[in-house]
This record gives sequence, C-alpha cells and structure tokens, in this order.
Amino acid sequence: TVSYVDTASPSAVQQATADWCICTIPLPILSQLPLDVSGPMKNAIDSLPYAASVKVGLQFKRRFWEEDEAIYGGISYTDLPIRNIGYPNYGFNRGGRGVLLGAYLYEGANSFEFTAMTPAERVASAVEFGAKIHPQYKSEFENGVAVAWHRVPFTLGCAGEWTEAGRAQHYRNLCQSDGRIALAGEHASQLPAWQEGAILSALDAITRLHERVVKT
Ligand SMILES: Cc1cc2nc3c(=O)[nH]c(=O)nc-3n(C[C@H](O)[C@H](O)[C@H](O)COP(=O)(O)OP(=O)(O)OC[C@H]3O[C@@H](n4cnc5c(N)ncnc54)[C@H](O)[C@@H]3O)c2cc1C
Repeated sequence: TVSYVDTASPSAVQQATADWCICTIPLPILSQLPLDVSGPMKNAIDSLPYAASVKVGLQFKRRFWEEDEAIYGGISYTDLPIRNIGYPNYGFNRGGRGVLLGAYLYEGANSFEFTAMTPAERVASAVEFGAKIHPQYKSEFENGVAVAWHRVPFTLGCAGEWTEAGRAQHYRNLCQSDGRIALAGEHASQLPAWQEGAILSALDAITRLHERVVKT
C-alpha cells in the first residue's frame, strides 16, 4: 500500500494498493520517504550522491552569432566556468531575437558554485563569462533563465554519481527486488545520467518481476 498526495488535490492523503510496486522516484527524494524495505536496500538508497548540473538560457536581441560570426548551430567548448555555449540548430538567419544555451555545467566545483547562486546571479555570471567569447553579449543581452538540478524538487540532483567502491558495495542491493518493491530509473543502471540507462533498468525490473510472478 502506497500513501500519496495528488498535487491536483493536495488536501487529502490517498492510498493505492497493488501486488507489486516499481518505484522510479530519484534517490535523494526516496531516501527521505518512509519505505518498507530491507536494511541493505535502505543503505543503498541513502548512499548514492547525485551530481550537480546547471544550465543557463540567454535571450538576445538578435542572432549575432549567425549575423556577425557565421556560427550555425554547434557548441563552443570553453575553459571558463560556464563550460559550453550551445547555438540553436534551427531557424537559421531568422530575424529578431535568439536564445543560446549560455552555460552548461556538470560535476566539479563550478557546478556547485553556480548551484549556490540565485537564478539572477547565475544569469549575470553566464553573461559576464560568455562576453569573453562573444563581446556582443553586453549590448545584445535581454533576458535569461537558469536551472540548477540540485535545487529542482522533483530530482534534487542531476543523476546518480556512482563510484567503483559504491557500486561494489550497494549496486546489487539497490537493484534486487526487495519484498514487493523494485526500483528503476537511471540510478539503478550501469548507464547513469542517460535515458537509455533509465529504460534498461525499467526493462530489468519488469523482467525480474515477470519471472517471479510466473514462478509463484
Ligand atoms: C541537465 C541534464 C541533461 C541531460 N541530458 C541527457 C541527454 O542528453 N541524453 C540522455 O539520454 N539523458 C540525459 N539526461 C539524463 C536523463 O534525463 C535521465 O537519465 C532520465 O530522465 C532519468 O529517468 P528516470 O525515469 O530515472 O528519472 P526522472 O526522469 O527524473 O523521473 C523521476 C520522476 O519521479 C517524479 N517524482 C519525484 N519525486 C516524487 C514523489 N515524491 N512522488 C512521485 N513522483 C515523484 C519526478 O517528478 C519525475 O517525473 C540529462 C539529465 C539532466 C539533468
């Protein structure tokens, strides 16, 4: 039996009862929920840190990277804290405003620094660093938006950050069916931080469950 609050009608706690539960809630959230699993699985759930990641979108008055520099799509890889600038692969030479991926940080100290900033500070910082690559930033910038995945309440992190030691100690316990509960998601796969890992782990959980149901 699972107790839950539907965000569409948040006043009531509801319950759902089923024979099996496949749970895909990210571990930083699941570790904070009351859960009826064994000690080894609980330890595994509690042990996996999640990587930091930050993206900043920047809106400019014009697509200066195309008009001035003949950049049509692609990515500039920099050694600045913003790491990457991503250019849109669509709407080439369209007049008017344009939007860039002005920063894409993952792992490392800079990701945590940007996570600690307010969204407005992240945007301002992305403009400041990006102007070293494209001086037009200063005069063409209009608006921005920033997401830091450790601050997103639905994941509390970008993806599971496994180490070899962590996998050796906890991976099997995390990925075994525990009573009537099995976990799935990128964190329960050998390909963390990829959609493929999430899908493979779902197939694995379903296969294990099917084998067990057929046997009983
Ligand atoms: C910045 C970034 C870039 C990425 N780029 C790529 C890429 O280019 N290619 C790629 O393949 N993958 C990429 N990924 C990874 C990919 O997005 C994930 O691996 C994949 O979405 C994980 O799927 P999942 O089902 O495990 O988790 P999620 O997609 O995170 O699903 C978990 C779900 O649980 C829900 N949930 C949370 N708390 C609760 C709760 N208490 N009750 C009920 N539901 C809850 C959430 O709302 C969410 O819908 C990227 C991820 C990030 C963060």
